[in-house]
Amino acid sequence: MKTAAHAHVIGAGLAGLAAATCLAGRGVAVTLFEAAGQAGGRCRSYFDPNFDGVIDNGNHFILTGNQAAFGYLRRIGASAAMQGSALPEKDFFALATGERWTIRPNPGRVPTWVFDARRRVPGTVPAEYLELTKLLLARPGQRICDVLSCKGVLWERLLQPFFLGALNTRPEEASAVLAGALVRRTFLRGGNAYRTRIAHPTLAAAFIDPALEFLKARGAQIRFNERLRAITFGGRAAAALEFPDATLPLSGQDMVILAVPPWVARDLVPRLSAPTEFRSIINAHFKYPAPAGASGMQGMIGGTAEWIFTFPDRISVTVSAADAIVDRDRADLAQTLWAEVCAALDISAPLPKWQIVKEKRATFAATPAQNAMRPAAATGWRNFFLAGDWTDTGLPATIEGAVQSGETAAALALRQLSL
Ligand SMILES: Cc1cc2nc3c(=O)[nH]c(=O)nc-3n(C[C@H](O)[C@H](O)[C@H](O)COP(=O)(O)OP(=O)(O)OC[C@H]3O[C@@H](n4cnc5c(N)ncnc54)[C@H](O)[C@@H]3O)c2cc1C
Repeated sequence: MKTAAHAHVIGAGLAGLAAATCLAGRGVAVTLFEAAGQAGGRCRSYFDPNFDGVIDNGNHFILTGNQAAFGYLRRIGASAAMQGSALPEKDFFALATGERWTIRPNPGRVPTWVFDARRRVPGTVPAEYLELTKLLLARPGQRICDVLSCKGVLWERLLQPFFLGALNTRPEEASAVLAGALVRRTFLRGGNAYRTRIAHPTLAAAFIDPALEFLKARGAQIRFNERLRAITFGGRAAAALEFPDATLPLSGQDMVILAVPPWVARDLVPRLSAPTEFRSIINAHFKYPAPAGASGMQGMIGGTAEWIFTFPDRISVTVSAADAIVDRDRADLAQTLWAEVCAALDISAPLPKWQIVKEKRATFAATPAQNAMRPAAATGWRNFFLAGDWTDTGLPATIEGAVQSGETAAALALRQLSL
């Protein structure tokens, strides 16, 4: 059923796409404005001429317990594009010693696997795992290492890489509250909630293209290369949107969802509190087919590489919170990371075609101070809502947080429209 209501969604990243698909699915007319020539934002795929193939800007994984992300994928009909093992297993490789191990959590809620030496991280004892529950009681100003001991075998071989990857911030400075939110949504829900899922063949095939098709099928307007330059605010409502070539006046039934990165939002919205510090991520993509039997995602301990992802046509490496090396020469990084991939996957081959993608502002810094600066989705203007992984979702900057934020903003707009 179509209504007279109109939603203007600014930004076609995952937050904007989640909001737009929610609203279009409820019969609201949607116009989606995106500054770039393509959708996806920090979660995008593109043809790279040097690599001579399509790559993702960065490897992304989600977990089976990510309810918002999977709800979004079901809505746009793309759940099948997410692939991964039926079991919550994860392979690891220690670069210095060549040691390999697999953790094998049990599927259920009670974590019996931590009491089984064949399933848990070698060299660990159950008490180390139980320490994780301390994060559930963390207070807002605390960092992870104020709450956990941040040492020992479990820390080095599982917890440090997990928190570093999920928060994209060194655990020594990262918020214990955000880490606690991760524990609540993973460890506490049991192994079935933390099976990893990776988009195949690309991020766009799972998260982006089906969303655009969904929107087009419902008559939504999608306008690329349309950068919002300013917003006019009246007393209690946003009154107009200003684009380079036109100003769009807003009427009573017009809702606006601003789903742009925080550094853009701060310029557009007066007196907005939003994160100001960011952390980078480096991804290396190698045009080399995954060796037979390679696990889709492998953790590396003690290397520059942290996670190795394998695809039929490429091998990709992620380095989180990579600020210390982000300015290193690309060719040098490619050589270093390829040598580590060869060691981890038992490959003996010269450096294949490669690309290094540096995302300098990949996520906000998940520190207690930055977390405290995140704004709510609702604003003082009745028709104006915020979305984005940096808004106050209670989660770190992730796909789950971005989608959840878009859906929260859409729900507020629907409520305002009495729909
Ligand atoms: C390399 C990398 C790896 C990652 N890995 C993972 C992972 O494994 N798992 C996970 O869950 N998360 C991961 N993330 C985080 C995840 O990608 C983000 O949380 C999510 O994509 C953020 O979506 P968003 O919509 O909030 O923001 P964005 O993707 O930044 O979207 C904002 C959009 O607004 C547009 N825009 C900006 N200014 C304007 C304007 N003035 N007018 C109109 N449009 C504008 C931008 O072009 C962009 O498309 C990773 C991020 C990166 C960069």
